[in-house]
Amino acid sequence: MTRKFKGDTLVIASHNPGKVREIAELLRSHVASFRSAAEAGLPEPEETGTTFRANAELKALAAAEGSGTIALADDSGLVVPAIGGEPGIYSARWAGPAKDFRSAMERVNARLGSADRRAHFVCALTLAWPDGHVETVEGKVHGTLVWPPRGSRGFGYDPMFLPDGHEQTFGEMDPDAKHAISHRADAFRQLVERCFR
Ligand code: IMP
Repeated sequence: MTRKFKGDTLVIASHNPGKVREIAELLRSHVASFRSAAEAGLPEPEETGTTFRANAELKALAAAEGSGTIALADDSGLVVPAIGGEPGIYSARWAGPAKDFRSAMERVNARLGSADRRAHFVCALTLAWPDGHVETVEGKVHGTLVWPPRGSRGFGYDPMFLPDGHEQTFGEMDPDAKHAISHRADAFRQLVERCFR
């Protein structure tokens, strides 16, 4: 049975202040107060899952069990079917410790060669309860990969991702336009529908 969020505080299982702020903003009308994993003194668990869903669930469960409060976690990345789904759950790792996404994009492009350039971003979102219950949704946005990359907005693989039905890459688009159609927006719409209404 689907479980609804009933509480006043939500722990956001992320140590990235930008992400915590963005998530709090998206759920502001449904949740009275937010606490980040860092504020709750929670360690960052290792992402040992083999799917976006598994990683979102292990992060959310660790935070819910560690804090005794309902917790939310996400896991996201770029999936390119023609190269076996890479970089997938390793999207951040392909940029290395220097977070060099220019070289990560070059690697994707080189791997692709003349193969099918279709790709999608995925965002798994999990709400976890301290008793181990989880609710997980998966948002997606489909598109194609362009080369060379275009635009300097956004982050990560945005400059090489051209969403279907649009002429600008995520790196060129106005941020509000990206946020309206992104995998993250799709996931949050699904989660609000399922657990916050
Ligand atoms: P994480 O879910 O915060 O670990 O992020 C995973 C990685 O996926 C990011 O570091 C980016 O490389 C990539 N990624 C996730 N969402 C986006 C997006 O909206 N644009 C570009 N890259 C993204």
